[in-house]
Amino acid sequence: MTQVISVIGAGTMGSGIAITGASAGIEVCQVDVSREQLDRAKAYHEKTLRRNVEKERMTQEEADAVKGRISYCQDHERAGDSSFAIEAATENIEIKKKIFGAMVSTYGEDCILATNTSSISITEIGQSIGSAAGRVIGMHFFNPVPVMKLVEVIKSPATSEETLSRTIALSEQMGKTPIAANDFPGFVSNRVLMPMINEAFHAWNDGVAGPDEIDGIMKLGCAFPMGPLRLADLIGLDVCRDIMLVLHEGLGHPDKYAPCPKLVELVEAGHLGNKTGRGVYDYSG
Ligand code: NAD
Repeated sequence: MTQVISVIGAGTMGSGIAITGASAGIEVCQVDVSREQLDRAKAYHEKTLRRNVEKERMTQEEADAVKGRISYCQDHERAGDSSFAIEAATENIEIKKKIFGAMVSTYGEDCILATNTSSISITEIGQSIGSAAGRVIGMHFFNPVPVMKLVEVIKSPATSEETLSRTIALSEQMGKTPIAANDFPGFVSNRVLMPMINEAFHAWNDGVAGPDEIDGIMKLGCAFPMGPLRLADLIGLDVCRDIMLVLHEGLGHPDKYAPCPKLVELVEAGHLGNKTGRGVYDYSG
């Protein structure tokens, strides 16, 4: 029987998870409260598949089959068939708790309840749904999902071994490399990456060098594909600030994790990076 998963949230990450699952032969129910977002996800899937056919990465028949495996719903229409529900909605604890409350009463008792959160506590999400906490796990994909190989799998103390092993198996089925970590603020990826980005802002703020020089030194000297300040623009400076606040609140050490004033200044001025046309760098041209 073909496996079915539900992906809740059809934004940047949810739409990427959906096409990655469908490309691996899984039937996907793409759920979002917004019809507009579902239409946008569908258009993104069609464009991606068209490009794959043009570049001879797949045949037209294969592309049609992938497309046919994705359904777009404003409700959890395939809840009864789904072995996994992966939540990839807006990064807000109250929204996520509400979605998990609905998931636990809608999906079957065998269904794993995963979240793609980049910083919210898996333990807290699990606690919000009481006895179903053993089925809750972090399944942290990276952007762009079809390209990036890693799934950072986050276990809370309540996550069951079965939930962990099934999540690892699904990640592999989707062509990803899962690596497990425990539930701490920022997990591994953002705990290591974000302070490095924040430090690059401090180096700029202190006048050690300008952005081009900082990025150039880190690219050529540390073999990074892009410098930390350019990467911050790509991620979104507001997102970087918010993750630093999660580390700051969750881990203490104010000197170590407080967002750099230069980063905060840019966010408050509305310069959020690529998405607003200006961040550390100017993209208006
Ligand atoms: P996004 O803003 O692009 O999409 C969020 C989607 O959630 C929207 O389509 C919105 O309509 C939908 N949504 C909101 N409330 C909902 C509800 N109650 N039910 C169903 N859908 C709902 O956000 P994104 O960048 O795709 O991020 C989604 C999640 O993935 C967040 O938890 C984020 O932290 C995480 N994440 C993001 C990235 C990234 O680079 N963008 C990387 C890794 C993880």
